Amino acid sequence: MPRALITGVTGQDGAYLSQLLLDKGYEVFGLLRRSSSGEVIDERLRWLGIHGRITMMDGNLIDLSALLRIMQEVAPDEVYNLGAQSFVKTSWNQPLLTGQVTALGAGNMLEAVRLAAPKARFYQASSSEMYGLIQEPVQSEKTPFYPRSPYAVAKLYAHWMTVNYRESFGLHASSGILFNHESPLRGIEFVTRKVTDAAARIKLGLAKDLPMGNLDAKRDWGHARDYVRAMWMMLQQDQPDDYVVATGRTVTVRDMCRIAFDHVGLDYEAFVKVDPAFLRPAEVDVLLGDSTKARQKLGWEPTITLEEMIREMVEADLARHRARMR
Ligand code: NDP
Ligand code: GDP
Repeated sequence: MPRALITGVTGQDGAYLSQLLLDKGYEVFGLLRRSSSGEVIDERLRWLGIHGRITMMDGNLIDLSALLRIMQEVAPDEVYNLGAQSFVKTSWNQPLLTGQVTALGAGNMLEAVRLAAPKARFYQASSSEMYGLIQEPVQSEKTPFYPRSPYAVAKLYAHWMTVNYRESFGLHASSGILFNHESPLRGIEFVTRKVTDAAARIKLGLAKDLPMGNLDAKRDWGHARDYVRAMWMMLQQDQPDDYVVATGRTVTVRDMCRIAFDHVGLDYEAFVKVDPAFLRPAEVDVLLGDSTKARQKLGWEPTITLEEMIREMVEADLARHRARMR
């Protein structure tokens, strides 16, 4: 039975990746940071019906000694570093914490792999946010980076450390440059989930309007279930490498709102209000990925459209709120 260690196992991607690996017959271990609210921490794993099937290891990305101990105890074949302070807007309020977790946390994981599990294959969750102020209209592995937030700066450090450890120490370390990906398990503060949750609440009479930030921003949105499959595929390759994972279609936040509200028979323009509190100190105006390399080398392709995904998310949020109302 292959053994996988996942950091960020309680997050959106950690949950879907755990499910994928369990289905493939892996023994799955997750890094769990201690919380005083332990009973809700594995909510996403419960939603997928896989809580209790993952062995949780007590640790934190900023504690190298814990990571070394875990690496020795688990002796993983594959390591997926998905843990991060992952919300761009928060990274301006907590820039150094973001650096400690998202940047140095990845460095700690690479060190732990190098010292305690050098044969393990390593995946780093890199981000399209690294392209920031885009230098090319369509972004591929060859496009120069221009990060626009402390989060993106931290991800860039983690990305180059992954490349560097591959080149310096021969680690089987790959970096997936994933464009935005969403699902019913997406954190409520991210724009898609905020919108699908609001559409559901307004439909059910639980809210009156939806305060939003920049409606003109464009994103290349895919489904997390499709994207975690790409992570696994990268680690099955003989050679480690970097891959862009994207749909190749970009849509405005405004049009994404329209899709969500249309699904519940409402006109988004009657409810969506621009509130400056949700604008950012620096914006990433548009992202559009070229995933030709992943499609050709990995045989990966997305299977779920934006419309299908938003409908699934709205339905899940309607079901959540109806259950709470009962
Ligand atoms: P989430 O925010 O849903 O999950 C983040 C995870 O990191 C959670 O499990 C969280 O634990 C954990 N974590 C945070 N801080 C620490 C810490 N100090 N030590 C250990 N674990 C910690 O993110 P996603 O699942 O959406 O994304 C997965 C990864 O992919 C992240 O690195 C993200 O930055 C990156 N990414 C995501 C994209 C997306 O569109 N979703 C796009 C590109 C990259 P807890 O539950 O305790 O908070
Ligand atoms: P990001 O691409 O990782 O920052 O993912 P988000 O889902 O947080 O944001 C995607 C885009 O939506 C960004 O350009 C935001 O500025 C824009 N946006 C507009 N209004 C909002 C909002 O109310 N909340 C969030 N999170 N983003 C918003």
